[in-house]
Amino acid sequence: MKITFPHMGNVYIAGKAFMEELGQEVIPPPRCSNRTLELGTKYSPEMMCLPFKINIGNYIESIEKGADTILLTGSCGPCRFGYYSVLEKNILLDLGYDVDVIVFDPIGEGVGKLKDSVSKALNVRKTKDIIRAGKLGWPLIRKTDELTQFANEKRAYAIDSNDVDIVMEDYYQNIENTYGAAELLNLIDETHEKLEAIKIDKNKDPIKIGIIGEIYTIVEPFVNLEVEKKLGHMGVYVEKSLTPTLWVEQHISKFPFGSKEVNEMFKLAKPYLRTLVGGHTRETVGSAISYSLKGFDGVIQILPLNCMPEIVAKSILPTVQKDYNIPIMTLVVDEMTGEAGYLTRLEAFVDLLKKRREGKKVGKLLFGC
Ligand code: SF4
Repeated sequence: MKITFPHMGNVYIAGKAFMEELGQEVIPPPRCSNRTLELGTKYSPEMMCLPFKINIGNYIESIEKGADTILLTGSCGPCRFGYYSVLEKNILLDLGYDVDVIVFDPIGEGVGKLKDSVSKALNVRKTKDIIRAGKLGWPLIRKTDELTQFANEKRAYAIDSNDVDIVMEDYYQNIENTYGAAELLNLIDETHEKLEAIKIDKNKDPIKIGIIGEIYTIVEPFVNLEVEKKLGHMGVYVEKSLTPTLWVEQHISKFPFGSKEVNEMFKLAKPYLRTLVGGHTRETVGSAISYSLKGFDGVIQILPLNCMPEIVAKSILPTVQKDYNIPIMTLVVDEMTGEAGYLTRLEAFVDLLKKRREGKKVGKLLFGC
């Protein structure tokens, strides 16, 4: 069995080491590129959301490298993600790729079903082995996410933010040469030390922006046109509202109670949205409020074109913006999104936030408020 999975931000890094540790042969998806997008767009229904198209591109590129088994998570509820696995398998079959697709359905769909998929994919039989495997995967995913966030922080304070890119690019290149958890964790520690050594200006008081929206779009840099990097080079401190770590906490390690952070988002969103409408709508609305309460200067919502749950959130955010007095900008991405226009909108938003902050300072000096 030669396993692959969708490329989703840092997930491929932790996923590769985790599977290797369990003795599985892994063909990690190549980093997303224009070719991935072209392949996905060519073979997907036109009106499908962008993550689906990128997934198809990922699978084809991994199959070309020898993968014969695809792992992906399933979903329930009113979002087309629940149909991804069925549709993707059929598309690949039509293209002549007879691959096995193993779906990790949510625990709520039945523990037995999930256990069977996990046993098959991870080649473990007993529940205690599954728990041991889970304990092994957890620090991998958490540490990869922490490193990305540390890079974001460094970019905002660095004297030369390009130094951060050089270190991180080196990290991404070296991941391919690691095998298993220990080597990956070593590489993460080394990269952390290199980032630590980058000179910073402690007097900087960067503009703070929270990134909210559909999870895949937030965490996959190719899809969001490297929004964290772009904002970082503008001297902005960036934080994402959703990460693979939070997803694992919410849906696996802390199921059925959920993670503290996500429960807090649900609570904040409740006056605006009482029920689940699919995707991460409640997290989007709740995290916009949370960023306002934490003193962030602004919030950017990113969503793929045609993403129903995020369209619902988008319609609520203007009210949140007014109620909590925090600027919120929405960016919609698809295969036609142009980088120049995207960058201009980011620059204009950052300028607005800077002017707003200056205005607040002047107001405080003149009127004490
Ligand atoms: S949340 Fe949006 S982008 Fe993600 S699968 Fe559902 S509809 Fe598509």
